[in-house]
Amino acid sequence: MKLLMHACCAPCSVYCIDTLRKEGIEPTLYWYNPNIHPYKEYVARRDCLIDYTSKIGIKCIVEDEYGLDEFCKNVSNKLESRCVDYCYPIRLRKTFEYAKENGYDAVSTTLLYSIYQKHDFIKLHCEKLSKEFGIDFLYRDFRYGFWEGHDKAKEAGLYMQKYCGCIFSEESRYNNPNPPKPVLPEDFEFLPVKRSIVIKKEKDNKEQYMDLLLEADPSKDMINDYLRDGELFVLTYKEKIACVAVVIKIDDETIELKNIATKEEYRGQGYGKKMLKYLADNYKQKYNKMLVGTSENNIPFYVKQGFDKYEKTIKNYFIDNYDEEIIDGDLHCIDMYYYSKDLKNKEK
Ligand code: SF4
Repeated sequence: MKLLMHACCAPCSVYCIDTLRKEGIEPTLYWYNPNIHPYKEYVARRDCLIDYTSKIGIKCIVEDEYGLDEFCKNVSNKLESRCVDYCYPIRLRKTFEYAKENGYDAVSTTLLYSIYQKHDFIKLHCEKLSKEFGIDFLYRDFRYGFWEGHDKAKEAGLYMQKYCGCIFSEESRYNNPNPPKPVLPEDFEFLPVKRSIVIKKEKDNKEQYMDLLLEADPSKDMINDYLRDGELFVLTYKEKIACVAVVIKIDDETIELKNIATKEEYRGQGYGKKMLKYLADNYKQKYNKMLVGTSENNIPFYVKQGFDKYEKTIKNYFIDNYDEEIIDGDLHCIDMYYYSKDLKNKEK
């Protein structure tokens, strides 16, 4: 099947593309969204889709039309019904036109993914266009994957928009005591759906994480020391433990990250970074600074995560405090280097 899928943005495309690929369908994406304003928002969403599709090897056709004037002229007299009278119809019609002119067998749209869109109208309208153009409409209720797609888009670092697209939806998002409610399939569970990544503070039975903590610090005695008074955080991915961290209080302004360990199978996938960001967000209300002591090998990683202020070096720390030699990659660890992150600096 040669499928042209209208794409409103990259985050909404993630689940739709994954679902279709699982069915053996390779869609071509079609960007035509003159409803997105202001211009910087339009560019951010367009470019994110171009980058994402190029990364995952999907063809993306871009109809680059910002269209603010035309859009406002057409909706200003009927703001309440702008979505169904103008916004969906022009985008979907243009997609069917392109499909017809370029030999596609079927059309679909990522608008069927968002629980905030008028799903039933979009389905019905596409069915009408399908008859008019003589091209199949491929319908899927992509809303069932709303949270899965959302989490995957966040994990991929995609630009996540905060409102539908037009400037009126922007106002409705930020200046409206009664924002529009999502429209869900009948059996769609809105809240109980499990999020992929969860980070929680663990108060009880902290020793159960000892094996993983030992991967970052081979001294059980030292771990027990800081685990007693420290706060332990556990990151799970799809309910499986991926990363743990322990933080202790140094004084009223300062905390110290004593241990952060990611399970081998989850390394290199950004879980450590997510944990560090979570810790910084969690502690910044109360503390000014987070310290970390590290061997030489890990300094670049921590500096990149905002621990960019050198504090001190403790000479021979690893020799004086551990019974056995500590080897990290090719490095025989000897000195401990302390760096800090300014928790109040919003740039970091
Ligand atoms: S709210 Fe969304 S669908 Fe409706 S007119 Fe604005 S951009 Fe289009």
